[in-house]
Amino acid sequence: MEKISVIVPCYNEQESLPLFYNEIKKTEEKMHSVFFEYIFVDDGSKDGTLAIIKELAEIDKKIKYISFSRNFGKEAAIYAGFQNCQGDYAVLMDADLQDPPKLLPKMYDYIKNNEYDSVATRRVTRKGEPRIRSFFARMFYKIINKISDADIVDGARDYRLMTRRMIDAILSMSEYNRFSKGIFGWIGFNTKWIEYENIERVAGETKWSFWKLFRYSIEGILAFSIVPLQLASIMGIVFFGISIVLIVFLIVRTLVFGDPVAGWPSLACLITLIGGVQLLSIGILGQYLSKTYLETKKRPIYISREENWDD
Ligand code: UDP
Ligand code: MG
Repeated sequence: MEKISVIVPCYNEQESLPLFYNEIKKTEEKMHSVFFEYIFVDDGSKDGTLAIIKELAEIDKKIKYISFSRNFGKEAAIYAGFQNCQGDYAVLMDADLQDPPKLLPKMYDYIKNNEYDSVATRRVTRKGEPRIRSFFARMFYKIINKISDADIVDGARDYRLMTRRMIDAILSMSEYNRFSKGIFGWIGFNTKWIEYENIERVAGETKWSFWKLFRYSIEGILAFSIVPLQLASIMGIVFFGISIVLIVFLIVRTLVFGDPVAGWPSLACLITLIGGVQLLSIGILGQYLSKTYLETKKRPIYISREENWDD
């Protein structure tokens, strides 16, 4: 019998976890032809999440769990899940039921009966989300798709069923700065997209503030595009061109009209403008340098405090 590994990153999900477990169990019962394995990744939760996971693992032997020594972020939790899953397929699901388990049979059908390596979901509405956030989200997807070779789909969720081939490809990308949406797009493979309406989380709160999302989008751009680096060179060329034109203009004007001393304000403006552009370019360089720095340290992506698969 084939096996599906359900990977669930959990950070402070004590309210939603039992509800999630109920739902996924219903789905499991409907899918007789496959064997299920659960991997709950406790991402350094500060509430009762780990205790709940342990209780569930007591009664359900299909549950494996790993608990991090601190909060390493969802990306690290996803990686830990992939590393430790044994399924022929793996599916990523949030613990808050925003990724409805009832779609799973349909996703499995697609992957079984067609030549797909992954079945992914995207929400077509952003109901229940602040409008300004939706606006920035759209902008982000437009920009990143222009400047990177990873195909990143607007509204794509991490809810995705994948074949072993694809799991191994993801694991082969062992980079420290992980941006899963980009990784999924970058490795390629045939993907079937399923669309659904946005669902609000059942309980608890989202861990994403606007600022965190902004930082995350910058991470995405840094991880999958080097266009910002080229921007510095382009700006350099543009300013060089402008200054040549200006110099010629000033020389000619001085020769024709005399009066070389004028234009203090314009000079001041130019100095601040060019200073600004230079700092911006150095800033961009710095961003990439800092990522490279962290990457070269080869720190582990997560640190486990305990797990239940060696006992
Ligand atoms: N999550 C995690 N580590 C974190 C933040 C979130 O493992 O540092 C998990 C969280 O428990 C949930 C999933 O990632 O299962 C999605 O988080 P959330 O619902 O807050 O994000 P949203 O759905 O609002 O994008
Ligand atoms: Mg959520």
